[in-house]
Parts: sequence; structure tokens; C-alpha cells
Amino acid sequence: MTMDAPSMEACVGCGAVLPRVEGPIHRYMTSSPACWAAFTALGSAQHLPTNASWEALLVDAYAVQHPGTPSNQAINSVAVHLMVLYGVLVRGYAPDQAQRLRQRPGQQTKGHKHERFHWLTPPSFASVLTVADVQNAGDAQVRAQVAEAWVRDVWSVWAQLHEGQVASWFAAYMAFE
Ligand SMILES: [Zn+2]
Repeated sequence: MTMDAPSMEACVGCGAVLPRVEGPIHRYMTSSPACWAAFTALGSAQHLPTNASWEALLVDAYAVQHPGTPSNQAINSVAVHLMVLYGVLVRGYAPDQAQRLRQRPGQQTKGHKHERFHWLTPPSFASVLTVADVQNAGDAQVRAQVAEAWVRDVWSVWAQLHEGQVASWFAAYMAFE
């Protein structure tokens, strides 16, 4: 596999090298079309076992590995998804609480939502797992294991740069008992 091959394309977000396809991408989670297709395919039932609790965090891992450019939407998205990963991986919230966590900032009244957060310079994802690794992993059980490793991997490189900031945002906007 070489990036010089005209049929391959590296994702501008996570760097995954996948066969070039034409297709849609997300509005602000900027990626290659093939990477976005790999992520959306993960949501279909046959790709992960139904008991894969980590499935709840895949959107968070994908979002922060495709941070896009510093628009209000992207800033808000990266902040919220990083806080969810922090909440589950560091603070011990159950993965099935991820959806509840994601909704928390919208319920806060203090501060306009575009003034709460600021752009965090993304880490390098050069040696980090990607959605392509999840997609390419054997059967559904193995994919679930790789998916968990992917989520942890993406969080760890962000945490090295920004865990303190994410922790203080979490305390202000997301924590619940
Ligand atoms: Zn990607």
C-alpha cells in the first residue's frame, strides 16, 4: 500500500489511507469520503456485537480525530466529544451515559455556547488507531476490541496536550451525580 497509488487517499483528519471513493463527508468533522463511509458503516448492526458498550463512544472518538477547522460548530463539537471521553475514561461514567453527557452543555444557562469553549490545537494522529483499523479487524468481536483500543488511543493523544482544559470544562458544563 503506497500513498502514491492514485486509487488511495489519506484522510485529512485521522490520516487513514483508504481506497479513494466519491461520496459525502460530514459538515465540520472533515475527513476523506472513504473515512466517513467507514465510520457510518460501523453503525450498521453487523459491524459490532450488540453488547459492545464502547459503541456509544465511537462518535466521540471519530469527532475528535476529525476536528476540522476552528469554526464555532467545530470548536463546540470537539469540546463536547472530548468531555464525554474524559467523563467515561477518566471520571468513570458508564459508556451508556455518553448520550446524557453529550446533552449536558445544551442544558446549561451560563455563557453563550460559542463563548464557553475555545479551539484546542489537535495532537498528531500519526501513530494512532483509526476507524479504518476498526473496519479492517476480523470479526465483530475483534472489531469491538479494536474499537475500544481506538477510543482509548484517540483520547490519550488529546489528553497529553489538553486534559487539564477538558477537565475544567467538564466540571463547569457536564458533570452530574
Ligand atoms: Zn479519517
